[in-house]
Amino acid sequence: MRTLQGIPASPGIASGPAFVFLDDEEPMIPRYAVTGRELDGEWDRFVVAVGKAKDDVKAMRDRATREMGQEHAAIFDAHLLMLDDPEVHDAIEVSLRSSLLNIEWIVFQYEQAIVQRLEGLGDPVLQERSVDVHDITKRILNHLMLKERFSLADLASDVVLIAKNLLPSDMISMNRQRVKAIVMDAGGKTSHTAILARAFEIPAVLGLGGGARSIKNDDVVIVDGTTGDVRVEPDVQTFERYGRLRERMAERELDLASIAEMPATTLDGKDVLIQANIEVPEETESVLRHGATGIGLFRSEFLFLQPGRAPSEEAQYAAYSRVLESMAGLPVTIRTLDVGGDKVVPDLSVFEEKNPLLGWRAIRYCLSDMDLFQSQLRALLRASVHGDARIMFPMISGPVELDQAIAALEVAKLECRKRHQAFREDLPVGIMIEVPSAALIADILATRVDFFSIGTNDLIQYTIAVDRGNEKVAYLHEPFHPAVLRLIKRVIDDGHAAGIPVSMCGEMASDPFAAVVLLGLGLDAFSMSAVSVPDVKRTIRSISFAEAQTVALEALRLTSHQETETFLARRLADRVFRSE
Ligand code: PEP
Ligand code: MG
Repeated sequence: MRTLQGIPASPGIASGPAFVFLDDEEPMIPRYAVTGRELDGEWDRFVVAVGKAKDDVKAMRDRATREMGQEHAAIFDAHLLMLDDPEVHDAIEVSLRSSLLNIEWIVFQYEQAIVQRLEGLGDPVLQERSVDVHDITKRILNHLMLKERFSLADLASDVVLIAKNLLPSDMISMNRQRVKAIVMDAGGKTSHTAILARAFEIPAVLGLGGGARSIKNDDVVIVDGTTGDVRVEPDVQTFERYGRLRERMAERELDLASIAEMPATTLDGKDVLIQANIEVPEETESVLRHGATGIGLFRSEFLFLQPGRAPSEEAQYAAYSRVLESMAGLPVTIRTLDVGGDKVVPDLSVFEEKNPLLGWRAIRYCLSDMDLFQSQLRALLRASVHGDARIMFPMISGPVELDQAIAALEVAKLECRKRHQAFREDLPVGIMIEVPSAALIADILATRVDFFSIGTNDLIQYTIAVDRGNEKVAYLHEPFHPAVLRLIKRVIDDGHAAGIPVSMCGEMASDPFAAVVLLGLGLDAFSMSAVSVPDVKRTIRSISFAEAQTVALEALRLTSHQETETFLARRLADRVFRSE
């Protein structure tokens, strides 16, 4: 058994065979069962792929002959002979027909066996031949897989997904019933893979920084998304221990489920709003089950990450309406498109920028693609009649940008009126405070909007200059950094001075210790992954507002995040349970 340690990114324990996806250096080889009837088709695919590989090699041989002379073309003749070798063809066909697995996997296994044999002979000349074998196999596999990325939607059996990095679009399109856990080299707690894993209630350990590379297809893996431990090829005792742990977690979940129905009220009677973040409409069931009383952030961009074209106005209208209707009158804050940065939308445009996190992202992108923005705004306005909708702009960095966004909304309203489409005239409009410049002029911005929502994932990223998805600097993404706490206090105070409510939808809101500090600072609403709602609700119910204020004052006085962590652990340990 081997143990790897990463960043605990989505709680829970799960196990299963590893499925290694998208290694940059080696293509991911799909492995799936085929039926007896499909065997001839698989074999035909092999014959066609070999034919194409031969065409490639012949073209390279002709070019080498032309440019460098006949003697340099000899290697390609050797490759052609290998591609035509009847013994190899026979061995692959026998293996295909006896194992009933797809042809890519058979070819890959055959290569592994040959390479191992050649390397085991200890003859340097034969060892070099293994490079040729690899080269030819890669060529055949490229044709077999059409050089396309395997879609995680096609997963046919339960797996633990192992990857170097997953795009948000991979996460959105994958077969969620089949992915039991995720292990990834890149990523931190607030990366989008982490956010989506929590949303889908899939245990995840991220930021292994190369460790995931050592896991092979079909290795048995146990993932503990609560502690960040990954066990590869565990022994029986370990398996049993995790079985018991899983049972205890299930009991704890039942305990927490009983909190779902209770109000989020402090010991001295202050009511707090606990809401949930969602990324796809289907999550509303989980939101209600976990006892959230509204949606504080609907990340609309994930609608745009589905494979295919950007959604039409009608498709968006249907999605927003569905969420509002499912929430049955509870508030739902829908954020306008936040693409760019690490949220790359394959079909929307080219996001190849040197510095994407500081680039063409979110509101900046929307303001430059008015057709797209207007269609989203109209869809939002029209959906607003189906519930208690609010609209929120992401990544606002200053007043001019905010004015432009508000003006765009007015244009969308005019168009709806022209089309006789109903919408809520008094639809509240708010902004994310997630750029330090916005936090520093919160007093100016507060006079132009109906609410603030602090996005600490980005606010921390931009304040401390730490890429939230980069595992190497994940230790710096620290909510209790004094600079972050001061900015948060400022935003809450400025919002309240202008008479508007301030909520938080960054992941910081889901940490029970942070929740006490935020409560004490006067935060009005907390929004987080649905799975975190019961823990935070229990925290709010276990403390008085007066005590939280004292705790917050002390936290603000401390001079480093370690001091704050130690102070909170000492002060709250007897009442506030933190699972990591
Ligand atoms: C944030 O930045 O804190 C936030 C909630 O937005 P996102 O994570 O979608 O960037
Ligand atoms: Mg953000």
